[in-house]
Amino acid sequence: MREPALRARPERSEGSPTDEPAVTADAVWELLDQVMDPEVPVLSVVALGIVRDVRVDTDGVTVVITPTYSGCPAMQVIEHDIVSGLAAHGIEPVRLETVFNPAWTTDWMSDEAKAKLVAYGIAAPGKTERDDGLVTLTRRGAVTCPYCQSTKTTVKSEFGSTACKSIHYCESCKQPFEGFKAI
Ligand SMILES: [Zn+2]
Repeated sequence: MREPALRARPERSEGSPTDEPAVTADAVWELLDQVMDPEVPVLSVVALGIVRDVRVDTDGVTVVITPTYSGCPAMQVIEHDIVSGLAAHGIEPVRLETVFNPAWTTDWMSDEAKAKLVAYGIAAPGKTERDDGLVTLTRRGAVTCPYCQSTKTTVKSEFGSTACKSIHYCESCKQPFEGFKAI
């Protein structure tokens, strides 16, 4: 009996030249959504808005990223985790392309991501204002306490456990908490 012509070709060994990429961009996005930020382990690099684009070619995958805070030490870890996270699923080589413009902003975080942040006990960043491509560093409006949702909060320090977080105090529930800085 003859095999049907359009069957999958299991005899094709991995790494052999093919006309089509072995993986789709959607599949790569899904895997990247499992790569968590080392400083905020409830948020993936996708939820944070770090991953800007994914391109799949016959010779590999290109992930376009925009770093969060400049000089953020976590970026090296994030880059490593992206490459190794995809390699763990047989996706390689992975090229990282870093795009600095437009600069990353906390506005790229989805509402779902901000909700996860609050559930984790970190105040979500407020909206930012951008003029002529410059990011306004001032936080707009009061920071909401992640525990009791009170806006009666004060800033205790601009630097928390990591450079991207600040320390606040809630006058209502008398608890200190960290906030993700809006940039
Ligand atoms: Zn509170």
